[in-house]
Amino acid sequence: MTDLVFQKCINPKCGGTTSLADTTFRCPRCGGLLDVAYDWNRLPVPKSLKHFEGKWANRTNPLDFSGVWRFRELFPFAPDSAIVTIGEGQTLCQRADAVATYAGLNPGRLFLQYEGMNPSGSFKDNGMSAAFTHARMTGATRAACASTGNTSASLAIYCAAMQSMRGIIFIGSGKISYGKLSQALEHGALTLQINGDFDDALRRVREVSQQLGIYLVNSVNPFRLEGQKSIMYRVLEALRWEVPDWVVVPGGNLGNVSSFAKAFSELLDLGLIARVPRLAVINAAGANTFYELHEKHNLRWAGGQFDQSKIDGYYAALDATSRKADTLASAIEINRPVNLPKALRSLDRCNGVVRSVPDVEILDAKAKIGAGGLGCEPASAASVAGLRMLVREGVIDKDERVVCILTGHVLKDSDETVAYHSADQATFDAKIGKRGVKSVAFANRAVPVPNDLAAIVKAIEQNA
Ligand SMILES: *Cc1c(COP(=O)(O)O)cnc(C)c1O
Ligand SMILES: [Zn+2]
Repeated sequence: MTDLVFQKCINPKCGGTTSLADTTFRCPRCGGLLDVAYDWNRLPVPKSLKHFEGKWANRTNPLDFSGVWRFRELFPFAPDSAIVTIGEGQTLCQRADAVATYAGLNPGRLFLQYEGMNPSGSFKDNGMSAAFTHARMTGATRAACASTGNTSASLAIYCAAMQSMRGIIFIGSGKISYGKLSQALEHGALTLQINGDFDDALRRVREVSQQLGIYLVNSVNPFRLEGQKSIMYRVLEALRWEVPDWVVVPGGNLGNVSSFAKAFSELLDLGLIARVPRLAVINAAGANTFYELHEKHNLRWAGGQFDQSKIDGYYAALDATSRKADTLASAIEINRPVNLPKALRSLDRCNGVVRSVPDVEILDAKAKIGAGGLGCEPASAASVAGLRMLVREGVIDKDERVVCILTGHVLKDSDETVAYHSADQATFDAKIGKRGVKSVAFANRAVPVPNDLAAIVKAIEQNA
């Protein structure tokens, strides 16, 4: 008899499996990515998604309060006693008509799923809670990640909350925002600054974790993706269990898109939804490997037989020209997404598309999201910039119901926000102008006024 829960190679032709306890996060047969797999026939599955509404009545239990774990019957890999929760997932799905209009959708058709409300300020907590639960089950005492910022902030907060786990963070030199770095330092994680970019840091952390037996929490860890499925459960809940037409998400390491597609295809297989939404992944133009491969080189999942030579060729060309990822949206500044094969499978299952948006469109969309009543960090705004592009192209109809994922909090990168709105050229240039953006469309400039009552009154009358 097989285990109720195990890890399984994503490649159906390989068929490799390994135990729940394995922390190498590579298929033992082919070295590829793994899924957490369940023998659903032998597990209790709710008859309807409405079942989860009942959890609210029981919210004095921290597991039923958590926006992740109240759905734990849909990722039942851990006994309740092992679960690590800090109350993550109390997030918000808000109808956003002003942003809809900006993106070209009709009013009432756009919802923003604000994952910045998590304890560390990004969606990463959904996955970290699940990864730390698995780490505890395997007896780990040290956890590590490479990070563009939010993974480290999340790892650090969970280590601090648990006390029994030491956090180790690898960051590349340069691009991490101060907001995120400050979280890693404040929560007491060991922070190693590697002389290289994110892709270099990730390669190193995988080597070091293997050598020292440190638990790895990057999204190559399939348990993280199990926790991130709950983002979609909460979206469905907010939409009264109606499946939207589209989910639009920024793409970095492609963990989210992989997790979302797994969530929907499992719900479909379990008979809990009748159809899956379409998925749109949005790259920043300066880090658009997935876009290039999927849309330009026509790379497809092909039942697991995807053309690896296209990927190898693309990476060889990056190396040959020493091209590094380069975008103001630092959280998605990644050229070698570890979950690329899973993401191909995800687009195949959910009839997905990929788009690539320039930084100026990301920043303008971000300003519109802020002006519309929710804020986000630059990477998150790629979702709305991408939606706008897809509506313009006619791929998304203005009457379709769309959910954009706002992955991180507005205060994560306040330097960029201030620079965007600044009238001072030096401030603008230091963060934005130097990166090729000439001018921005929706700056809300501070108005300088002398310390004089009449002048202040005049400034208000003229401007508000
Ligand atoms: C990590 C991160 C992303 C990228 O998500 P992936 O799952 O790696 O594609 C996007 N936005 C923010 C704010 C992030 O922190
Ligand atoms: Zn395999």
